[in-house]
Amino acid sequence: MNRRKFLTFMGSAGVLSALSTAKVAEAGVHTFPYYADSYAVLHDTTRCIGCRKCEEACNIVNNLPKPQKPFSDLSVTGDKRRTTAYEWTVVNKYTVNGKDVFRKLQCFHCNDPACASACFAKCFKKEPDGRVSYEGSQCVGCRYCMIACPFYVPGFQYDEAFDPLVQKCTFCEHRLKEGKLPGCVEACPMEALTFGRRSDLLRIARARIADNPGKYVNYVYGESDAGGTAWMVLAPAVPLSSGAEDKGKSPLAASDAAADKGDELKQLDLDAHLGNRPIGELTYGALGAVPMIVAFWPVLFGGAYAISKRREAMYKAEQEKHVREARDDVAAAVDAAVRKIEETQGPGAADTARRAMTEALRAREAACRQEHGEDK
Ligand code: SF4
Ligand code: SF4
Ligand code: SF4
Repeated sequence: MNRRKFLTFMGSAGVLSALSTAKVAEAGVHTFPYYADSYAVLHDTTRCIGCRKCEEACNIVNNLPKPQKPFSDLSVTGDKRRTTAYEWTVVNKYTVNGKDVFRKLQCFHCNDPACASACFAKCFKKEPDGRVSYEGSQCVGCRYCMIACPFYVPGFQYDEAFDPLVQKCTFCEHRLKEGKLPGCVEACPMEALTFGRRSDLLRIARARIADNPGKYVNYVYGESDAGGTAWMVLAPAVPLSSGAEDKGKSPLAASDAAADKGDELKQLDLDAHLGNRPIGELTYGALGAVPMIVAFWPVLFGGAYAISKRREAMYKAEQEKHVREARDDVAAAVDAAVRKIEETQGPGAADTARRAMTEALRAREAACRQEHGEDK
């Protein structure tokens, strides 16, 4: 095992038992238990060459179906691909400073997974070793997890007539339990992927930024985004605009600014506007403003789901008609909910409820559109 890829090696049996007791006091700021010693992976995009060895390894170690195009075909990185039920990781090419930069996409294994918050069947779980696991025996196929995930990660087995499941990167659970590295980390020839304890990786990431002024965006993506994630990303710096240079800012100081950081990260399609609070907490928080709305949560999700489901089933010519019908159904459900709230809690609560529901629906519909590639 390459120690530079695995910073803090321990026997895996010891790892899992030691980690299982590692809930810490910080749990209070998370919607899920927080495990200080959990594992993580740092993707240094300045080292990545887009070779797709990680994709190939993921395919092999997880016995996934072979893709239509071979892994040796690097042209596919030019498409903005997303993960699917059978491609748990993909590497995409972006242009930063006029140069090609590659970023690997997979489940971020969030500290506070929105997929788990949205799943009424409790199929998802944040594990002490850092993984977000999925156990599909209770899965009803509602796909709320797919709508909730801020990174558009989970894929659905649409081609499975019986018992289709949600699929995503498992963090190579089977390999971790055998004391092995995740398949993708082991296969990377550039050490662009480093596996280790999250706390160690954060130190490593900060040291790389400090030791290489001007090379990286002064930001570890995933340290706190969406409540923090197990998979984190280092992005290459973008030269300052002339305006910023005029003000005498150094590259590191400038990239500290949220606006600059957002622009820089955006070039790698990293969303810098997710905020530091868990996504699940935010959505539930908005709806929880009026307790009664929680009772209508399934209706809202159901509405967004109905829209996406109908989009899939219909012929193109009928698309808009069906979407309009689905929207009308949802609008009627919202009206009914608001009327009920007004009756029991007054007009102020009803107004708040309508605003919260409209906001939640808008966000979910946008997620559905993205999921089905309609924004491309
Ligand atoms: S990236 Fe998406 S699927 Fe993965 S843990 Fe986070 S919310 Fe869940
Ligand atoms: S950790 Fe395992 S399942 Fe996840 S992307 Fe890497 S190889 Fe695939
Ligand atoms: S194997 Fe490593 S260098 Fe190659 S595409 Fe994957 S992360 Fe990048």
